[in-house]
Amino acid sequence: MTEPVTPSRIDSFAQLQLAAPLAKAVAELGYESMTPIQAQAIPQVLQGLDVMGAAQTGTGKTAAFSLPLLQRMLAHENTSTSPARHPVRALVLLPTRELADQVAQAIKSYAKYTQLRCTVVFGGMDMKPQTAELKRGVEILVATPGRLLDHIEAKNAVLNQVEYVVLDEADRMLDIGFLPDLQRILSHLPKTRTTLLFSATFSPEIRRLAGSYLQDPVTIEVARPNETASTVEQHFYSVGEDDKRRALKQIVRDRGIGQAFVFVNSKLGCARLARSMEREGLKTSALHGDKSQDERLKSLDAFKRGEVELLVCTDVAARGLDIKDVPAVFNFDIPFNAEDYVHRIGRTGRAGASGLAVSFASGGNDARLVADIEKLIKKKIELEPFAFPENEPHGRFNQGRRLYEHEDGRPPRARDDQRSGGGSARRPAAAPRDPFFDQPYEAAAPGDTAVAPSWEASARGAARSPVSANIKPKRKLAALFKPEVPSSS
Ligand code: AMP
Repeated sequence: MTEPVTPSRIDSFAQLQLAAPLAKAVAELGYESMTPIQAQAIPQVLQGLDVMGAAQTGTGKTAAFSLPLLQRMLAHENTSTSPARHPVRALVLLPTRELADQVAQAIKSYAKYTQLRCTVVFGGMDMKPQTAELKRGVEILVATPGRLLDHIEAKNAVLNQVEYVVLDEADRMLDIGFLPDLQRILSHLPKTRTTLLFSATFSPEIRRLAGSYLQDPVTIEVARPNETASTVEQHFYSVGEDDKRRALKQIVRDRGIGQAFVFVNSKLGCARLARSMEREGLKTSALHGDKSQDERLKSLDAFKRGEVELLVCTDVAARGLDIKDVPAVFNFDIPFNAEDYVHRIGRTGRAGASGLAVSFASGGNDARLVADIEKLIKKKIELEPFAFPENEPHGRFNQGRRLYEHEDGRPPRARDDQRSGGGSARRPAAAPRDPFFDQPYEAAAPGDTAVAPSWEASARGAARSPVSANIKPKRKLAALFKPEVPSSS
C-alpha cells in the first residue's frame, strides 16, 4: 500500500478538463470547487490507479469516483441499441438499498449528457424491471450484493467486461456480513481492473479486504477517522428508559429543533418510537429494514422536503444517506458499536455550522458503551442528569392523545427511581405546544451561520439553508465538550 497522497493543487473543476458532457453536468449541479476527496482521488482514478479512500458520507465521494470513471468510459460511448454494445463496465457495490438508489441517481445526473447508461438493482423490489434494464445493456451497474448475486445466478448480469469496481461504504458492508457475497461477486470479475474502496474508517478487516482485492492502492484520507466535529455540541443525559421519549420531546421543543435524526438500536424500537412521537404531534417517520422499499424512499423524500420533523432510524437504514444540514441528532439508544456514534453525529454540525448531538444513557450496558465511545473519540464524557420542568411529571410517556394523564384523567405516577426534580407529579393545564412547529420551514438569514467551505457554498444555492438556522436555543444547556477550553476537572 502506498503512502497517503498529498493534496493535489488542482481544486476546481475547470482545471480538471473534464470532457464537455461531464463538465456541463457538473456545472449544472452548481459544483465549482472540488471537495478534498475529489481533489485527491479524481487525478488518481483518471490515471487508472486503485484507490483506498477514507471519507465520511457527505464528502462528495460519489463524484470523486464516478466522474473519473465516466471520463474513462467515454471511450466506449455509443448510440447503438444492441445490448452487446453496452456491457457492464463499472460495478458499484453498496450496503443498502437507499444508498444504492442515491448513488445511482447521482451517477445518472453526472452522466446525463453522455450515452453511458446507469442502472441500479437492490433487494425488496420486483426483479423483472431490473432484469429488463440489465438485458437492454448498461455500462454502470450500481447494486447491493445480495440482489446482484441473484441477477448473476439468473444470468441477467454478465460481468466479464467489468473494468472498474467500487466498494462503497465497505466497512458497513462488512458489518452487515456481506463479505462472503463480496468475495463471490469479485470472483466473477476480470482480474485486470481498477478497484476503488471507500470506507468511513480503515479497520484491520478493511485493510485485509483491500489487501486481497486492490493492487498497490493509493491511500487517501480526507478526515481523520473517528473524529467528531468540534462544531457539534454533545450531551449525554442520564435518563430512565421510560423517560427518554419525554426528554426527547422536551429538548426538541425547548431548543426549537426543526429537524432531527433519532437513532435507535432495533427495528422494533424504531417503529414504536416513531408511532409514539407521531401521537405526540411531531411529524415523524421511521426508517428501518422492515419497511418496504417504497415506504423508505417516501420517508426520505418527505424528510428532505422538510415535511417530517423527526426521522427515527436504525444505523443500517440511515448510513450514508445524503441528508445534510440536520440541526440535531439524538441517540435515543447508545449505539452498540462506538464507531456508529461517530457516524450518527456526523450528520450534524457539518461544514463548520453548529449542531447538537444528544445521547440518552439509561443503565444496563450503557455505561460500558459510553466508555467505549469516550475511548474512541478521545474526549471525556460526563453524564448529565436530565431535568424535567417541575410541573411536568416524568415516568411513563403518554400512549394516547391526552398528554400527561391516564384515560380517566388521573395524572400518572412518576417513577421514584427516575425522579430527578423531587416533588409529586402534577398535571399541567394543557398540552404544551410550540408555535415553531406550526410554522413552515424558514431559511436562515445570511450571516446566521459559520462560513462553509467554498465547495459547499458554490452548490448551496439560494434555497439551501445552513444548519444553525433551525436551532433556536431558548435555554442555555451547559456544553459538555468545549474543545478549545481545557476541562476544569
Ligand atoms: P456524497 O458524499 O457523494 O454523497 O455527496 C454529498 C453531497 O455533496 C451531494 O449532495 C453532492 O451533490 C454534493 N457535492 C458533491 N461534490 C460537490 C462539489 N464539488 N461541490 C458542491 N457539492 C458537491
